[in-house]
Parts: sequence; structure tokens; C-alpha cells
Amino acid sequence: MSEIPAPRAAVTALPPYVPGRPPTPRPGVTTYKLSSNENPYPPLPGVVEAAAAAVARMNRYPDMACTDLYAALADRLEVPTENLAAGTGSVAVLYHLLQAWCQDGDDVVFAWRSFEAYPIAVTVTGATPVKVPVTDDGRHDLDAMMAAITDRTRVVVLCTPNNPTGPAITHTEVADFCARVPDHVLVVVDEAYREFVRSPDPVDGMALHRAFPRVVVLRTFAKAYGLAGFRVGYAVAHPEVAAAVRACALPFGVSSVAQAAAIASLDAEAALLERVEELVAERTRMLAGLREQGWTVPDAQGNFVWLGVGDRTADLAAAAEAAGVVVRPFAGEGIRVSIGEPEATTRFLEVAARN
Ligand SMILES: *Cc1c(COP(=O)(O)O)cnc(C)c1O
Repeated sequence: MSEIPAPRAAVTALPPYVPGRPPTPRPGVTTYKLSSNENPYPPLPGVVEAAAAAVARMNRYPDMACTDLYAALADRLEVPTENLAAGTGSVAVLYHLLQAWCQDGDDVVFAWRSFEAYPIAVTVTGATPVKVPVTDDGRHDLDAMMAAITDRTRVVVLCTPNNPTGPAITHTEVADFCARVPDHVLVVVDEAYREFVRSPDPVDGMALHRAFPRVVVLRTFAKAYGLAGFRVGYAVAHPEVAAAVRACALPFGVSSVAQAAAIASLDAEAALLERVEELVAERTRMLAGLREQGWTVPDAQGNFVWLGVGDRTADLAAAAEAAGVVVRPFAGEGIRVSIGEPEATTRFLEVAARN
């Protein structure tokens, strides 16, 4: 029997990423997937056509320089193209950034519970995840995060709105944090759900980018733009940071189809904003309905709500599933319910009323 050479120790320590499950098809019952914060709408007008045209050229490698996508984003965001770095989802961009900055002995500070990709992306570099507990109402504790920064800290990640707990940080809070962070630390502001924020003083990632050279803004086409299946996201950063992120990227990572779909989605922004408005209204209905029933729900600024039900997590998730609604349980902590079709909101509210 031959021995298998061992992977790096960090790899054996990787926590698993638990994806949101799809519903099991049930005859006669319409089921809803509220487990992955996906957009329930079909692609925006013109996107399928643009993607199909790109599919016809699949024998060719994609444009590795993402020329047209960077040009469209640079135009939209009013930044030079050299400040951009794309990847297969903003998760990939975060991997590239951490690979560029972190190794054994380094620390990366982020809130917890937050996005489950963070500890995986950090650990794989050999660096140590430093998890700073969110407050009881699911908010980042920025003072505690600042206090967790040491000489070993290379990167701090802020997730706003925070997945899965829901609240957003204010622009004033983030700007104050960035102004106080020591010079040897990069601050990543993950704005995956920025389009859904309706709180006063919302984070303006581009203003942070202009004001602070060590801020990296992460954005994605997966959520509001509805391109989760195509994998495209990007960073806006100081040109030297963006260059290092691009240098670590997988060659030809972002497919031609994803590049074409992203550009077409940017062109359909008016339709996008209408849909986002509908989802925000649905979120308001979900949040108000749950609170009227007596549930404690943190502020919800993304396309999801959080019920920190602790020991009741598995039971509540099972009850939802029995009603045809699949949510995302976090064992022993709570469930995250994505905002999807209005009928799905109604169904979940019925389940919640009975539990
Ligand atoms: C969904 C999500 C992303 C984006 O993921 P993609 O890789 O772009 O699909 C990034 N950050 C957070 C917090 C998310 O929830």
C-alpha cells in the first residue's frame, strides 16, 4: 500500500463550507429555496442574450484582462481600471487578496458569526482567523475588533450588511475605524449586499476607497444582480493592492459568459433597482411579520433575516422544510431565511406563527 503525501497542516484544519440546500422536489407542492441568499428573479433583460452570444465562442479562452468588464465598471464607478481586480465571485477575490498578504504566523480579524467563507479563506493561507463576537443584536463590535489588532494582523474584514445576522455598519463608523487602523493593516469592506441597504448613513464603499488607500472594497454580481451561478465579483482598491490581487488570480478565471453577463447586467441597472426595491419591500414584510409574532429579529439590511433560535434551530428548519421552504440552519445558533418569492415569505411566516 502506498502512502499519500500529506497536504499542508492548514488544509487538514479547514472548516467545511456548508452550502444552502435546494428543496427536495415534492409532487403537488411548490417548494422554495431560501437557503443561499439568491435572487429569486430570472436574469435581467438582455443578459441571457449576451451570455448566449458568449457561449457560442466557448472554444476560445476568455479575455484574461477582463477588458470590457473593467471598462464598464471603471465607467460606472468612476475609477481607473487599474484599481479593479475581478475573480470568480467576490469570495475568490478575497482568497486572492489573502494569498497575496497572509502566511503562517499572520492574523486576520473579522466578526463572528459572519460569512462562513472567511475562516476557510484565512486558514488556507496558513494565517490564523481571529473571530471577534458580534453584539447580541448581530452587529460588528468595532471597538473589540480594533482591540484585536496586533503586530501580526495583516487584514481586517468588515462584512456590511453582515451575513448571516443582518445589520449594516454605518458609513461614519467604518470611516472612523479606517482612520484609526494601524498602517500595517488592510481593511476589506465586503459589500456583497450593498444594494439592499436602507438604513440611514449607508456605507459608501467608493468614498472609503477614495479616502483610504488601505481599504479594499469587495462587490459581487451574485446577489442583487442575480448572477450567482456565473461566479463574478471584484475588488476596488489602491492600484498596488489591485495589482497584487490580480497577480494571485487564477489565469482566465472569469469565464467569457460571466464577463458578458456582468456587463449586460450593469446595462440593465434600472430594472435591477426595481427588483431590489421589491425584495426590500418583501424583507420589510418578513421582518414586521416576525416581530409582530413576538420573534426577536436583528435589523435586516441584506436580502435575508436572522432568527437566533439556538437549540430550536433544527426543529424550526425542519418545520419550514415540511412547509416547502428550505432555510439555512446554523447548528445550535439560528436560521437564516433569504428573501425570495412573496409566496415563500407568506409560507415562512405561517411556519413561524405555529412555532
Ligand atoms: C454571497 C456573499 C459574497 C459573494 O459571494 P460570490 O463569491 O461573489 O458569490 C461575499 N460576501 C458575503 C458576505 C456573501 O454573503
